[in-house]
Amino acid sequence: MSEDALKEYGKYASACFYNPSASYAEANKVRLKLDEAREKLKKMLGAKGGEIIFTGGATESNNLSLKGSEREGKWEYVVSIGEHPSVLEVAKSMEKKGRVVHYIPLTKNGEIDYSFLEKVLNKKTRLVSVMLVNNVTGAINDIKRVSQLVKSLSPQAVLHVDGVQAFKKLNFSVNALDIDLLSISAHKFHGPKGVGALYVKNKTQLKNIIFGGGQEFGIRSGTENVAGIMAMVKAAEEIDTEKAFRHVKQLHDAFLHEIENEKGISVVCPDGSPYILCLLFAGVNSETLVRMLENDVVVGRGSACSSKKAGNSVLEAMGYSREQVKGALRVSFSDISTLKEVESAAKIIKEKYLELYERTK
Ligand code: PLP
Repeated sequence: MSEDALKEYGKYASACFYNPSASYAEANKVRLKLDEAREKLKKMLGAKGGEIIFTGGATESNNLSLKGSEREGKWEYVVSIGEHPSVLEVAKSMEKKGRVVHYIPLTKNGEIDYSFLEKVLNKKTRLVSVMLVNNVTGAINDIKRVSQLVKSLSPQAVLHVDGVQAFKKLNFSVNALDIDLLSISAHKFHGPKGVGALYVKNKTQLKNIIFGGGQEFGIRSGTENVAGIMAMVKAAEEIDTEKAFRHVKQLHDAFLHEIENEKGISVVCPDGSPYILCLLFAGVNSETLVRMLENDVVVGRGSACSSKKAGNSVLEAMGYSREQVKGALRVSFSDISTLKEVESAAKIIKEKYLELYERTK
């Protein structure tokens, strides 16, 4: 968490610890601050109109988007197979209830198969969910192309985009991309964990999934996590997206330069988001590699949220074999990482891989 976000958190967790729904003057001031925070987020998202619903993170924002758009009747739902479990698991639960769900496959470069999307879209489509940046591979989907297809072929459908790995990392605008629902999560941009938001273009279209006191326009009842929200927006405001991107791209390229031409190491999406680098190490199990690296470099195998699940379904959906997937490692870069740290991490990863490879052979 950034220092300023932490300070903001402290302020609203102590001196300004008032319930925004209460009627006394101090509480009213907090409510105005929350509304200001909503406006700031909308601006950063490039929204013209619409609303921000504060949530307990992107898992909730994603669940709310899908379940809140679900309707009785002969509707159809379309999600990409590369989505985070907080989308895929909801889709599976809809299928169990007898709803029609289409899963868009991924192509070898990690993007969705746009021609498949075009084929399944029809007048009965109720919701389409495609993420902007994939959290395992860094692949970037062409959301403009997706929204154009959705709006022309399925006029009654809403487009949900999981923007968790894109917000404050890539420049985009919900308005320009014609997005109806967009999820974000604070801990991906130096905010606190357990807080996020959902941008909603037309809130009358979204049903609540939590029932209670009617906070957040009746869509998300429960006293708002004011300290978390204020810290999230402070953290977002601090990041200059373009400057951070340039720095991270430099780190990503330096890392790639260090490992390229190394026998046995391949890169899954070299042209994806520079914040995520998915590597495949031939002939070894990356679980062992992660453990060997533990004291020097902190890396994950896929994404932290899916590490409890067997295999890596995103890579398999792209056509990689189980054997190749066994050697997958995900390196993620931060705008506060330094070039020196990244170069030394790449060298250590290379060394440990060769050591493990020799041992395994
Ligand atoms: N969507 C994507 C793409 C993610 O990477 C994550 C978490 O890493 C989530 C959703 C879930 O977000 P949260 O941890 O805020 O629930």
